[in-house]
Amino acid sequence: MPITEDARDLQEDLVRLRHDLHRRPEIGLHLPRTQERVIQALDGLPFEITLGKETTSVTAVLRGGAGMQAGGGTPAATASPAGTGSPAGGKAAERPAVLLRADMDGLPVQEKTGVDYTSRTDGAMHACGHDLHTSMLAGAATLLAEKRHLLRGDVVLMFQPGEEGCDGASYMIREGVLDAAGPRVQAAYGMHVFSSLEEHGQFCTKPGVMLSASDGLEVTILGAGGHGSAPHAAKDPVTAAAEMVTALQVMVTRQFNMFDPVVLSVGVLQAGTKRNVIPETARIEATIRTFSEAPASR
Ligand SMILES: [Zn+2]
Repeated sequence: MPITEDARDLQEDLVRLRHDLHRRPEIGLHLPRTQERVIQALDGLPFEITLGKETTSVTAVLRGGAGMQAGGGTPAATASPAGTGSPAGGKAAERPAVLLRADMDGLPVQEKTGVDYTSRTDGAMHACGHDLHTSMLAGAATLLAEKRHLLRGDVVLMFQPGEEGCDGASYMIREGVLDAAGPRVQAAYGMHVFSSLEEHGQFCTKPGVMLSASDGLEVTILGAGGHGSAPHAAKDPVTAAAEMVTALQVMVTRQFNMFDPVVLSVGVLQAGTKRNVIPETARIEATIRTFSEAPASR
């Protein structure tokens, strides 16, 4: 049976899991209930499971069952000394491994969708679709476990908390997710739902970079406060901040190659408390999205 048919058989279970995760979103690096649901979803499947120490991550390794010695031909296999007494071919370095990753965290957003599986947690919502990602990876776990005998290497499943600005991946990398199967994984696959722009059932990808890197910019402008009636006697950080916001947009369009896009959006602009007082400081925070490490043209 083609794997898509097998996948269809899982649909009801996965929809139920997704709705359950959606009802109880958790935010940040500590998602105990989500972790528990993932462990439940993997229950009975032949995975080696490791839980995060600093976060509620879940790493699950599936050992492929297809004969490695016959067709592997990896450099590691030929380089390993013969006859060192590893009859099961179990020397970890000889087996390729790939990683599949899903993020699990929600966002600090109030849900107003009105769907019957709406968030039961005030101020938290799976608004970015990570409930879908988690369910999809649980589905992949079941499908791969069923096809385990055909796999010529190992699969590492990476259920990651704290994607939304908490750097959850770096915790997992420090705790060894890339080497969870023994050898370092040869490739890591991740994806993101994109339902606002793509038709239902469509996938899109392209060679090279698909999604941008995300960086933050924080600027505090230190001026000198004063009375609004005598700006010449102050150093006004408000006008400086206002100019910086527009200058940053001009910089993006004038100094970066348009075929290697950069997006910069100022989301925080704060200064002052009274209309007639020039404040001491102003503050800007921006998000920056980039697709390469190429610097500005000057
Ligand atoms: Zn997301």
